[in-house]
Amino acid sequence: MSIQDNDTIQIAGAGPAGLVSAITLVRAGKKVVVHEAKPNVGWRFKRDLQGLENWTTKQDVLQELDDMGITTDFDYLPCKQGMTFDRTGHKHPIRSEFPIFYMVERGPNVGSLDHALLKQAQQLGVEVRFNSRVKQLPYPAILATGPKAADAIAVGYHFETDMEDGYWVICDDELAPGGYAYLLIWNGKGTVKSCMFNDFKHEQRYVQRTVTAFQRLVDLEMKKPVAHGGVGNFYIPTQICSGNRPVIGEQAGFQDTLWGFGMRYAINSGILAAKSILTGAKCSAMWFSKYKSLLEVSVVNRVLYNDFYHFGSKWFLKYVSRHPDVRHFLHRQYNPMFIKKLLYPWAKLRIKSLRNDSACHHVDCECVWCRMGSDR
Ligand SMILES: Cc1cc2nc3c(=O)[nH]c(=O)nc-3n(C[C@H](O)[C@H](O)[C@H](O)COP(=O)(O)OP(=O)(O)OC[C@H]3O[C@@H](n4cnc5c(N)ncnc54)[C@H](O)[C@@H]3O)c2cc1C
Repeated sequence: MSIQDNDTIQIAGAGPAGLVSAITLVRAGKKVVVHEAKPNVGWRFKRDLQGLENWTTKQDVLQELDDMGITTDFDYLPCKQGMTFDRTGHKHPIRSEFPIFYMVERGPNVGSLDHALLKQAQQLGVEVRFNSRVKQLPYPAILATGPKAADAIAVGYHFETDMEDGYWVICDDELAPGGYAYLLIWNGKGTVKSCMFNDFKHEQRYVQRTVTAFQRLVDLEMKKPVAHGGVGNFYIPTQICSGNRPVIGEQAGFQDTLWGFGMRYAINSGILAAKSILTGAKCSAMWFSKYKSLLEVSVVNRVLYNDFYHFGSKWFLKYVSRHPDVRHFLHRQYNPMFIKKLLYPWAKLRIKSLRNDSACHHVDCECVWCRMGSDR
């Protein structure tokens, strides 16, 4: 279905996916209204520090944003050198010539990614309606309402600190089952989290162990700690439309299954959804030709990590740490090479997303999740 010139395009969700769609559409001369359920952008993140990954493409992610007409007018810390620890506490430094990721702040504060996207959208003429929880959307519309199940959780604290900027990662099931514990420090602020893929029931035990481990290994110092946590949803959909409306970002399940990096997928899917509305092209076809194999590789990487990491954690980190350029190493691991394509059907059987109902996208739906879980 094509849109008329005077149609207003409705977008549900003012996360990176929704705002990037809105920016792309309004720059093409369309009228856009974004509905946001919360009183401001980035509400579920408060002032979380996150990494905008920079290894899946050779091109730098900030250059990519620039080329797509998306603002880079947010604060960021280019992250090259860092420190990883195996479960015995051995250090394995990692390094790269170019940033492996850019540390950014999430939430409504000036300088955050969310604030910059909101500002760009509003300056271009997008109307953003806060406290507007969408239940039904007429066409033309885009659904960008964030995760709808918890395949992984990241739990810990935000805090203030005098520690120097940097990032540290511990790969140890005793701290983060199936995942990793991480510490990010930037400009007097910090985030410490256990990112776990199972045993959520005992999250507090893992958070406590994570804090203790970072205190022991890097003298973690937290002032005014505030508890924070969130969920992540990984899922490779068979189609990314609800009716004829594109579904994007984490609502569609788009997220790196290995480490839980979702911002870049959210942004890229926002661009594609806008383009599909502008050109009438099939959104699913555009998405799948560009990103499906990358997502599938991340599923294979997760299963390999799950199944073999336990036998060689120390060896694995030692191997990575010997690599002169970890960005390059990661780029190769995310390359949809033949062997990974071959392994995908096996890996898919091993990974079960908690999001069982591929047909439900929250809007226009009366399923139990939509009736009972809408205030997540
Ligand atoms: C603790 C934590 C740490 C993370 N760290 C990283 C990281 O380091 N790097 C990385 O790349 N990714 C990270 N992620 C994942 C990343 O934050 C998400 O993948 C990304 O924010 C998804 O963007 P989105 O626009 O799809 O959804 P969101 O950012 O969740 O935005 C969706 C918006 O929709 C709104 N909404 C929901 N329902 C409705 C409705 N019915 N009507 C109107 N509005 C609605 C929500 O309030 C929200 O503002 C992390 C996630 C968590 C929880």
